[in-house]
Amino acid sequence: MKCKLCDKEINNYNPSFNHLKLDESHSADICQECVDKFSKWLGSIYAKLFPTSALKKRYEKR
Ligand SMILES: [Zn+2]
Repeated sequence: MKCKLCDKEINNYNPSFNHLKLDESHSADICQECVDKFSKWLGSIYAKLFPTSALKKRYEKR
């Protein structure tokens, strides 16, 4: 099983962690390394979209 993003062999393949299902006909296998990078990238996007102060305000309102 190879990673869809970096094309490396996926070690200890686990469908719950490495198999990204988009819909019935689209899915991708991603290695742990890319999952980590992907989540860091997502985190940086959220940090840009919602600066800490804005996030705090959101949570305070609830
Ligand atoms: Zn990868």
